[in-house]
Amino acid sequence: MRIDLHVHSTASDGTVPPGPLMAEARAAGLDVVALTDHDTTAGWDAATEALPAGLTLIPGAEISCVWDGGAANRQWDDHGASVWRAREAARPAAEREGMELHLLAYLFDPEHAELAGTMAGLVEDRAHRGERMVDLIRADGVDITWEQVLGYAAGGSVGRPHLARALVELGVVRTVDEAFGAEYLGTRWQLPKAAVDVFEAVDLVRAAGGVPVFAHPRASKRGRVVPDSMIVELAAHGLFGLEAEHTDHTDAERDELVALAHDLGLFVTGSSDYHGTNKTVRLGARTTAPEVYERIVAESHGTPPRVS
Ligand code: AMP
Ligand code: FE
Ligand code: FE
Ligand code: ZN
Repeated sequence: MRIDLHVHSTASDGTVPPGPLMAEARAAGLDVVALTDHDTTAGWDAATEALPAGLTLIPGAEISCVWDGGAANRQWDDHGASVWRAREAARPAAEREGMELHLLAYLFDPEHAELAGTMAGLVEDRAHRGERMVDLIRADGVDITWEQVLGYAAGGSVGRPHLARALVELGVVRTVDEAFGAEYLGTRWQLPKAAVDVFEAVDLVRAAGGVPVFAHPRASKRGRVVPDSMIVELAAHGLFGLEAEHTDHTDAERDELVALAHDLGLFVTGSSDYHGTNKTVRLGARTTAPEVYERIVAESHGTPPRVS
């Protein structure tokens, strides 16, 4: 069985629509694929309707989270914590103490009110942020428009890859990857994104009957990574697993995560994090063991896996 538990469609920043993505997954030899668009379940129905024989769909999402570096554990009352959050929100992204991280969630109830409301808020913020990033870029004399960006976003949750494609189209950069350089979307035109406290997110996913997995936890090429002590706390809090098998990890980073998962009784997953032509990685580039996949299905009670 070939199992890829993390792929993106045009419902977020992938380039393949959910339906065709299912056909592509089967053609790539996958038996199980999880659709995990950023902060949205918008692609689930189209993917389900298009399922080819022999492919199982695990509906999921990749939730934008933040870890406050342990500040929330300094035993502040609610007021202290909200003051801290407001202060952080006012700071440039690069100077924040909070670290951005991604939580994969599988087989949760898409109608769980609190989780659905939280995700809807994240998607709404992504649109506002995208529009403000367009303003920043225009202020630098580039003739990008919000309409153009929305065209690439195809009605899904907006992210920097959509702005990156507009910048390629305008000839500002040659590739999407180049657009993520510091002088472009990497730093200069980057604005902070709304995110859920990662401990709250684990609670919400479990409350909605889903199974939470920490996405690419040690991908140092993406920026700072959390300390092991934080993963220990997250494990005690209800985390199911660590996505150790990911192409953004070096072999050493992968091995450290496998050892940590073993110590903490967490499961190890693997995936391609496929984004279509927005990234070079191919479907099934990394995979998850059948026993782990079966355990995810067994622990979930939010929504069933889909078959044709
Ligand atoms: P955002 O969520 O809007 O901050 O954008 C981050 C997204 O951009 C991630 O989910 C990645 O899919 C994508 N991304 C980050 N770095 C790169 C890169 N160098 N090339 C292509 N896509 C990238
Ligand atoms: Fe992405
Ligand atoms: Fe991610
Ligand atoms: Zn992803």
